[in-house]
Amino acid sequence: MKIKCPKCKKAAELAPDYSSVKCEHCNLDMSYGEYVRFVSQHDSKYSDILGDYTGTTGGQTAGTLDEWD
Ligand SMILES: [Zn+2]
Repeated sequence: MKIKCPKCKKAAELAPDYSSVKCEHCNLDMSYGEYVRFVSQHDSKYSDILGDYTGTTGGQTAGTLDEWD
């Protein structure tokens, strides 16, 4: 699915299984865990939509994303 790129603010692609985030505009390529940490550290506006995720993991890379539906 398309998500907002944290670097260039254009449309990045989130893998359906949340395994990776890639942006063809700025060559962003990171895991979803890294993406969550990146946006939470660099853009406070993301904290709202990512609140559930970062709240349960403390911002660390989760070993599982099974809680995501
Ligand atoms: Zn980008």
